[in-house]
Amino acid sequence: MATNLDPTTAVQYLKGVGPVRARALGRLGIESVADLLTHYPRRYFDRTSALPIGRLRPGQEATVLGEVLTAGERRTRRGGTLQTVSLGDDTGVVFCVWFNQRFVLKQFRPGRRVLASGQVQLHGGQRQLAHPDYELLDEQDQDGPAGLHTGRLVPVYPLTSGVGQHWLRALVHQALERLGPGLPETLPEGLRRRRRLPGRAEALQGLHFPASAAALEAAHRRLVYEEIFAIQVLMALRRESRRQLEGIRLEKPGDLTRRLVKGLPFALTGAQRRVLAEILADLRSGAAMHRLLQGDVGSGKTLVALVAALFVIEQGWQAMLMAPTEVLARQHGRTLQRLCDPLGVTIETLTGSTPAAQRRKVLAGVGAGEIDLLVGTHALIQDDVAMPRLALTVVDEQHRFGVRQRSRGAADKETGRAVHVLVMSATPIPRSLALTLYGDLDLSVIDELPPGRQPVRTELIREDQEDAVWADLRREVAAGRQAYVIHPVIEETEGQDLKAATAEHARLARDVFPDRRVALLHGRLKGREKDEVMDAFAGGAIDVLVATTVVEVGVDVPNATRMVIHNPERFGLAQLHQLRGRIGRGAASSACWLLVDRFLGEEAWQRLTFFAGHADGFALAEEDLRRRGPGDAWGVRQHGAPGFRLANPLRDKDLVQDCRADAQELLAADPQLAGPDGLVVRSALQAGFGRALPLSTG
Ligand code: ADP
Ligand code: MG
Repeated sequence: MATNLDPTTAVQYLKGVGPVRARALGRLGIESVADLLTHYPRRYFDRTSALPIGRLRPGQEATVLGEVLTAGERRTRRGGTLQTVSLGDDTGVVFCVWFNQRFVLKQFRPGRRVLASGQVQLHGGQRQLAHPDYELLDEQDQDGPAGLHTGRLVPVYPLTSGVGQHWLRALVHQALERLGPGLPETLPEGLRRRRRLPGRAEALQGLHFPASAAALEAAHRRLVYEEIFAIQVLMALRRESRRQLEGIRLEKPGDLTRRLVKGLPFALTGAQRRVLAEILADLRSGAAMHRLLQGDVGSGKTLVALVAALFVIEQGWQAMLMAPTEVLARQHGRTLQRLCDPLGVTIETLTGSTPAAQRRKVLAGVGAGEIDLLVGTHALIQDDVAMPRLALTVVDEQHRFGVRQRSRGAADKETGRAVHVLVMSATPIPRSLALTLYGDLDLSVIDELPPGRQPVRTELIREDQEDAVWADLRREVAAGRQAYVIHPVIEETEGQDLKAATAEHARLARDVFPDRRVALLHGRLKGREKDEVMDAFAGGAIDVLVATTVVEVGVDVPNATRMVIHNPERFGLAQLHQLRGRIGRGAASSACWLLVDRFLGEEAWQRLTFFAGHADGFALAEEDLRRRGPGDAWGVRQHGAPGFRLANPLRDKDLVQDCRADAQELLAADPQLAGPDGLVVRSALQAGFGRALPLSTG
């Protein structure tokens, strides 16, 4: 058998992987052998610990061994499907349920023996496991060497249709066997010794097929360390290369900022004034600004960004503001236009759907220096956008972009001086995570909301009580207020989710609000259509907006006072917080109704109850992190940024500090990463994290 395998080898070259299986693996994001080895187990079955089903207690994490009794599926009211499989042993029956996972029915034929693991929940008096991890015991027990599936700690992998647990486990085993010591090391040896970390080959072996709980622990620690260390090195590199950049010096303030502030119907909050002082000091300093502005939903970041932009503009320079979505970019365009017009500042908006002719016109104006402030989506940062006098780039809702886009700030062509960059985020980030994701930035925090805001009353309502919710919305709309009705749309079930939102829109328009204006907004609409709907909603011409998460970030319509969220359990807490932040923006009292299915599991119930009881974004973000890990909470994973696979900077606080110190030490001794230790790290970055995070500062 050929053993010339290296980490970049495509999985097809492994024994037993044909084109069909390779495609199935592709759905799990596995293309190379390296991908396969970092497809880490989600958990482990302790095969000696299966419990009698009759002894299962709600709330417990448990593994059971049972026989499939029945397997079936039903439609949910919202157009999804629910798969239910009953498992029995001599002592009782437990139900396994999945949402929209049709492929499980093909596997769970009655009579098969199954090992299933998950949290026990109680539903209508029955015990169930929601989305359990599982293994079909009679399935190809011949996969892999003897004992592979029956050791003490057996790895359990995330699966997809066409990829079974046994088969995948044997495949990982094969890859480890054949690659073995050929796995390149990613951490310098001295560092490993000092921090008592096992080598990479040993750690991967230990994570996939641990000989003991202690071996697993050590392997896990090592691999977490590696992930955080890589980020810390990249951050340190960026910080260093920035320190060398001279920034555009802005030292002759005009009167635009003063005139703006004087014309506002309210006073800036103390926190807004404080962060502005920090920002303006950067702009005056002569060094390039790279600052993160953090402030909870509704804290008034847009205005801070505008003042910073005007400070630049009043000195003869240009600024741009980037938003993560078209809806948000256009809203910023409208808001800022209103504020800029009286000051004689010219502003244009550019998004992916701006017609070509208009785009050319705007670009010409920008290029000629006639446009002071350019607002848009990241279509803006395409290479053909040349702003000759650009001095400041503001990136709004930074966490929705990939990391790659964040630091794109070119230099001024004539002087070679760097453009100032201000990134803004509504996600309150614990310090250990901030050091990880934004370790290369300075930090300003708006820790105060404008006065007069009322907390949003939030309640879980069972779907069979929804009439009360609609009655409340009708009253509110009759009083001249507006409402959002939110549907989750997630990638895997996008088609069905959109159908549900569309059906809901039709039903509400026909049966519930026949005399009101109800509109639908989702990501598949064209930019122009989205714009029309958002315009109409912002202008009060629409009463009820049925929407997907396109309104999640930044949308600001203070007259909207109600939000109904369908299937809220499918959102993370940080995302729910963003959504709820769309209401409670004016002086009127607002309410958020979470419509939940009566089959809602215990974990989801607790999470949503926590959400209902907490208005503070910081508390919610911590809870989200604790429950889900940072990748999901910040949406970084699906955006191709450094989605940590194992690390959780909140849990691994101490490692973050260690890694930061180690990274700084390494770079102090070897700034070019050219010595023996540096080269180990450099090639690791290029092979792995380098793909997601550019080594250069672009
Ligand atoms: P976010 O920080 O979530 O981006 P926005 O910038 O959208 O918040 O501001 C939310 C709302 O608060 C806007 O309607 C804005 O006009 C208003 N606002 C901003 N600053 C103040 C202030 N100092 N006093 C009162 N309202 C303010
Ligand atoms: Mg905002």
